[in-house]
This record gives sequence, structure tokens and C-alpha cells, in this order.
Amino acid sequence: MRPEILFSAFAPVSSLPGVGPRIAKLIEKVVGPRLVDLYWHLPVQIVDRRYSPPLSSAPDGVIATVTITVDRHAPSPNRRLPYKVFCSNDTGELTLVFFHARADYLQRVLPEGETRVVSGRIQHYGDDLQITHPDHIGTAEELASLKAIEPVYGLTAGLTARPLVRAIRSALDEAPDLPEWLTPDFLAQQHWSNWRDSLQTVHAPESASDLDPKSPARERLAYDELLANQLALALVRESVRRGSGRAVAGDNSLREKAVANLPYSLTGAQETSLREIYEDMASPARMLRLLQGDVGSGKTIVAFLAMLNAVEAGAQAGLMAPTEILAQQHFEVLSPFCERLGVRIGLLTGREKGKNRDATFADLADGEINILVGTHAIFQEGVAFKDLAFAVIDEQHRFGVHQRLALTAKAAGGRANLLVMTATPIPRTLTMTAYGDMDVSRLDEKPPGRMPVDTRAMPLERLDEVVQAVRRAVADGERVYWVCPLVEESDVLDVAAVEDRFAFLTETLGEQVTLLHGRMKGPQKDAEMSRFASGEVSVLVATTVIEVGVDVPEASIMVVEHAERFGLAQLHQLRGRIGRGARQGRCLLLYAAPLGDTARARIRIMRDTHDGFRIAEEDLRLRGAGEVLGTRQSGLPDFRLADIGAHDELMLVARDDAKLVLEQDPDLTGERGKALRVLLYLFERDAAVTYLRSG
Ligand code: ADP
Ligand code: MG
Repeated sequence: MRPEILFSAFAPVSSLPGVGPRIAKLIEKVVGPRLVDLYWHLPVQIVDRRYSPPLSSAPDGVIATVTITVDRHAPSPNRRLPYKVFCSNDTGELTLVFFHARADYLQRVLPEGETRVVSGRIQHYGDDLQITHPDHIGTAEELASLKAIEPVYGLTAGLTARPLVRAIRSALDEAPDLPEWLTPDFLAQQHWSNWRDSLQTVHAPESASDLDPKSPARERLAYDELLANQLALALVRESVRRGSGRAVAGDNSLREKAVANLPYSLTGAQETSLREIYEDMASPARMLRLLQGDVGSGKTIVAFLAMLNAVEAGAQAGLMAPTEILAQQHFEVLSPFCERLGVRIGLLTGREKGKNRDATFADLADGEINILVGTHAIFQEGVAFKDLAFAVIDEQHRFGVHQRLALTAKAAGGRANLLVMTATPIPRTLTMTAYGDMDVSRLDEKPPGRMPVDTRAMPLERLDEVVQAVRRAVADGERVYWVCPLVEESDVLDVAAVEDRFAFLTETLGEQVTLLHGRMKGPQKDAEMSRFASGEVSVLVATTVIEVGVDVPEASIMVVEHAERFGLAQLHQLRGRIGRGARQGRCLLLYAAPLGDTARARIRIMRDTHDGFRIAEEDLRLRGAGEVLGTRQSGLPDFRLADIGAHDELMLVARDDAKLVLEQDPDLTGERGKALRVLLYLFERDAAVTYLRSG
């Protein structure tokens, strides 16, 4: 339950004085529905209103705040002409200009003969000095408060600055005093003030440097957010670990045979990771490990061997993939191995129905099935393993990370060792945000013999040439992925784009072409995928459904349309689909000219390097953390205050802080512990609190 001290922070925006339903709706859309959303809506700029020049010498274009006498109203003779108010003071004359004015309102705020203060941008019109739509109109007494430095907030159409500023002000006035969750020593060392003061400070910038993410007040709030995140991750992790683990150690009989049967030998990185995993499995504490390896680094075989370890020990293993296509693919890749070893492997996705499904359940429950591959369905309630000892989650970045982790941890019987595999080469700091302090094994070495993919960029106008090149390649027996662009927020448009391209390519290349997109039914997807994998067709036109994990070693060409719309990480994932087999891989990035700076930089990086980690670092530099993996797919928490680029050091401190706190006060019952609970609720890590023993 959220503590009472935070009730006001989570009150709806409409509860603020002066915020009616219309404004509340707009604020909800731009900022969020509750007062804390207003707290976190930080200014992006400042306006300096301290300048009060004499009217006779006021420069064009400046923001000025001046005291004037209202001389005369000149209402507009028709709708197209503005309403003017002529004013003056002893330094000169000023005309206030209003379009679509409400006369009664203007007469009320600017009564003739009275003195008023106005603030806005000065414009010269011939000899005339004007302010069009002043930002502020006040009485003479308000001069001092108007001559201020004003924060400027991000807005969207419909919401203007004034009601938003007013709402933020009153939200801040009501902001509670919260108990301090940082230690006095740390606060002093960082020169930070308490939470409430820091909040007030970030909303009252006095110079541009106060907008810097490294300004003390902003750092304090960012740190709070990072700490809440690290603490939540640590709590999930602790609870996973606390669940009594089990030691799993097989006799190597199956693994030995499997390795002997491989058409290749394991890379050094695969050997090292396996050693780490086996050791972790053999210890009685529960394993929670991340296997991080770039596309094509060979994670599948590592997972498979580790699963065999569990089977040797007489237990079961499960492998969860993010999509049906991938689950199917894993099943197909692993089935022949299993057959030779006499190991039973089963498949369970949302698609298996009726008798088949029941049979799978039955075989799973009595231990007939040794390894189960599937989508998230496999760790859901109602799926009863006889004895699940080892669970693998593949391509984890597709899932919301810690929710998934927690869910899996519970559903998997609470004791199974967990291995999470990610293909995205996330930089270290981001790994930590997403996974906390997990144990990590890295596949930092690719299987030998991989040639770098020849990568080129070309404007879309040269599409015809590209089609001709594809035609030649296909005639020569090559297989081609043709990826169509993602249309923002719209599956329907994605599908339309990909279907158009499919029709066009079928016309020019004939029956060689097939189509794959996310809206197709499962069995149909499989059918098309296996037609492409078997070589029955040579060109696969697809949306980014193929981005993750699909493995067709014979495919050697990748065409990406509108490459400028893809993130670096995504391009890297896509390119990783080719260059796995004997043929030289070729990647064509088609872009719509002219390219923006960022898109140009991305394409250059893609041409320059194949190193996934470097690509991820560059991406981080180009875009900032929140976007690096594409928020939709990243599973990264969405930070509102912290900026991983600027606050990476703080992240490390927060991690250590969280660790230390939980060592000293594992259930957060001490004074600081209680304050930290408030922090968790403030950043809506409510779920994490449920892991504490005294809830
Ligand atoms: P990812 O890490 O992207 O999941 P996969 O496990 O799909 O990579 O492996 C990519 C390809 O590399 C597969 O075709 C696999 O058979 C092959 N492979 C894996 N390990 C090795 C190795 N040590 N030597 C040669 N090829 C390997
Ligand atoms: Mg994979």
C-alpha cells in the first residue's frame, strides 16, 4: 500500500485549484495524470524577463518587461485585423497587438488611463514599437515578480505555457516533505539538499547552467530515481536468490556426446561461459545469470548444453523465446540433436491446442519430456513440470525485464536456475539499469570464419538497380532478406508497406518471393519461414519480425528499406541475420535522401564496424539512453529524471548504495529503510516492496 505521506503526490491533476477539466485533460496528455508527473516535468529552457530598457532604445527581438500607461484601445474593425492597445511611458510609445481578441477581457486587464506592467518580445514595425500577445500583463505592484527568470516547459498543441506553469507551481507548493533516504554524509559530500528543496530548485532555474543534468538539484533527483531502480532490482534479485536454489550437476554423458556431434568446435568464449554456468548450476544457491552475446555469437548451443546438464541430473529444462517463430526455430534446430541423444524435446506456444496440448502437458507432468521449448506460455501457471531445474529466457530485451524475471522466477517453481540470454550488446551501464547486479557471462568472440558483411548505403532512387542486383544474386542461388520500414505506431501501415513491396517484387522477380509479417497467423508464418529456410523461395520480404534470432545460414543478402528510420542497434540485429554461411554477406541500406546528421552518422558507423559493443556505445552517444534500444523493445525502465549518458557514474554509486543498504537492513525496517520504502513508492516500484518480508 502506498504510504499516506505520498497520497497528495499521486492525487489527480484535476484536484489542483484552478485546473478545470479541459486543462486537466491537456496536462494529462502532455505530462501525465498525477501531481508527481508535474514534479517530474522539468523545464527545458529559461526566459529572462529581467530586462527593462527605455522604449526609445529597446532593441528588436528582445524579451522585455516594461511599465506603461494604457492610453487608448483601438478595437479591430473586422476579424482579420488585430485589436490594438496604444500605451506609453516617459521613454517612448508601445503598441500592444492582439489577434482574435476578446474586447471585454482586454478592457478588464488593460483599463485606459491605468499603469500596467507587460512582458513579451519587442518588435519594430517601421517607427512603431510593438509587443504581439504579451506573455504577461500585471499591475505595477507585480513588476518585481514579473521581472524574473522563468522556466520554460515542454508543451504540445493545445496546452499553453501559463496554465501549465500555474499547475506546476501549485503542485510544488503542495509537495510533501519526505523523510530523507540519503545519508547525511553523502548529501554533504555531494552538496545536495533535501528532496523537496531540490525539487523546488529544478523548477526555478536561475541560469542556463541550472538546466544542466549535472547541476546539483537535478543530480539529486536523478540519483533518487536511479537508487529506486537499483533497489527494486536488488530486491527482486534477492527474492529470486532467497528462493531455495538447488544444485544441478550432471554426469556429462549427454553433453560429451552432443559436443562430439557438433559440426564445429566451441569457441573459447562459449567454453568459458559454459564453465561459469555449470559452476553456478552446481552451487546450491539459485542461479540468476545473464548470457550476453552479440548476434551470431552462438548462444543457442550454450543454452542447449546447459539444459542437457539438467537432463543428465534427471531433471527438466525449459527454454522460453519471445516469438512463436523463434520458439519454432529453436525446436527445429535442437530436435535432431535431441533425437540422437535420446532426449525428448517438446514444443508449447499459444498455438498448440486441444489434444496435442493436453498430451504435452501430460508428458511434461510425468517427466517424459526432458526439454520444453516455447513462448512465455511455458512458464505460466497451469504448466506443471515434473521437476524443472533450469529455465532459459532467450532474447530477453523483448520483454519488460524485471516483471518478466519475477514472473518467471515464481512460475518456474521458485527453485529453477535461471539463465537470461540477450542478443543486444548493451553497454555496461545500461545492463545495470535493466538487470541490476546480475552475474554476467559474455560471448565476446564470434565463431571463426565469419567474414564481415559488405555494407553499403544507397538512396532509394536507385531501387531499380538494387532489384536488378537481387535478381542476379537469386539466379546465382543466393537467398535474400528484404526488410520494409517500420511505420511509426501503426501495424496496419507496416503491413500495407510490406505487402506493396511484396507485390512489386513478385511482379519483377516472379515466384521466388515470399512474405512475412507480424499480422500473419502462426502456422502461416512457419510455412513461409521454412519455405525460405529450405530454399524453396529465395527472397523473404518482411517487417522487423525477423530482427531477432532468426537463423538461416544460407541467406547472404539483406536489403533494408528506409534504413534511416531504424536505430543502430536494430540495424545491427538485422545485419546479424546474414553472413553466417559460406557466402560473402552483403547488406544494402536504402535511405530516403536527404539524410539528417544522425541518420548519416548511423549509416557510417554501420559501414565502419561490426562490433556490436562499439555500435551500442555509439548509439548511446548519438541518441541518449532512453532511446538506445527503442523503448518499445528495450525492456529498459523509462527514466524521467536520470539520463544514463550524463549520470552513469551516479548509477554505479546507486548500485553500491542499494547493495550496502540491503546488506545492513535487508527488509528496510530501520529509519533509513523506512524512508527508502517511501522512495520506492515515489518512483512506483511498488512491486518491489512486496518482496520485503515485512511488507
Ligand atoms: P545467437 O547468439 O545470435 O543466438 P546462434 O546460437 O543462433 O547465435 O548461432 C548462430 C550460428 O552460429 C548458428 O548457425 C550456429 O550453428 C553457429 N555456431 C554456433 N557456435 C559455433 C561455433 N563455435 N563455431 C561455428 N559455428 C557456430
Ligand atoms: Mg539466438
